Amino acid sequence: MEFIQPTSWADALAAKAEWPAAVPLAGGTDLMVELNFDARRPDALLDLTKVDELSQWDVSDGQVRIGAGLSYTRLIAELGKKLPGLALAARTIGSPQIRNRGTVGGNLGTASPAGDCHPPLLAGGAVVEAASVRGLRLIEISDFYAGVKRNALEPDELIAAVHIPLPSGPEQFSKIGTRNAMVIAVAAFSLALHPDRQTVGTGIGSAAPTPRRAPEAEQFLAAALADAGLWESRDDLPEAICERFADLVRAAAAPIDDVRGSAAYRLHALAVMARRTLAWAWQDYCRDAR
Ligand SMILES: Cc1cc2nc3c(=O)[nH]c(=O)nc-3n(C[C@H](O)[C@H](O)[C@H](O)COP(=O)(O)OP(=O)(O)OC[C@H]3O[C@@H](n4cnc5c(N)ncnc54)[C@H](O)[C@@H]3O)c2cc1C
Repeated sequence: MEFIQPTSWADALAAKAEWPAAVPLAGGTDLMVELNFDARRPDALLDLTKVDELSQWDVSDGQVRIGAGLSYTRLIAELGKKLPGLALAARTIGSPQIRNRGTVGGNLGTASPAGDCHPPLLAGGAVVEAASVRGLRLIEISDFYAGVKRNALEPDELIAAVHIPLPSGPEQFSKIGTRNAMVIAVAAFSLALHPDRQTVGTGIGSAAPTPRRAPEAEQFLAAALADAGLWESRDDLPEAICERFADLVRAAAAPIDDVRGSAAYRLHALAVMARRTLAWAWQDYCRDAR
């Protein structure tokens, strides 16, 4: 097996152009498991861990740009206040060791329906920056997921970064697993309220072939809040709004029965998480006004 270890981003892109079948390696917390179990035997590995640019983040024009190689540990410590939804999700990933190695770019690369970054990235309206020697390509997050563990990258492309608008309102994340830590989600849900444009973002995890939004639930909630003047008044949420929102989130999912849970349980769990995250987010929204 070839082992290619570029030390600059330009060299990494050149290597990917020369060996499109080379498999990128970031933290290795997904990839090394596959190699160790012989689920995959690539001819070449493209180790990205020496490319410093990939582990940087910055903020400009109201957007956070997170390099694909930023670890969860650093994301939580350095971006916890700026991106609370993504940080909440990152805190539930694996163990401290996994969070030290695992990266946002690796979660996107694997594109598992159960990956925990996806719901908050969907709810926050993220955009993936893909790069190759041919140039940059910006991919809306909901277009990035191409199927079960498949993404929209071309063979010569690498994930450079993900761009996320700075939130103007509260963000929440909820995950159900068979235990409290070191657990792959049975189902997950993320909610973001965007009061600046009076819209709502959602992200469903582990309850469809790909991570996905619940567009009807988003539109319903945004309109219901606007119609009742609740964006401005921040009064208590009527029960009927919470119930309908939960129903529409559940309707957006398409789960399967598998070893971690049944489809019926996942649907029930999603409705519960939708109501809970809405209650938490609304509490945050009302508190922020004080
Ligand atoms: C014990 C354990 C517990 C875990 N718990 C969780 C959990 O709770 N939640 C969760 O979501 N995940 C979990 N995972 C999975 C894993 O930690 C995450 O998916 C992590 O984000 C992967 O990141 P990485 O940097 O280690 O990726 P790697 O393993 O290095 O790579 C993953 C995939 O992404 C590709 N890739 C990496 N970087 C790039 C790039 N820049 N451009 C293009 N492709 C790229 C690789 O080729 C590979 O296909 C767990 C894994 C283990 C071993």
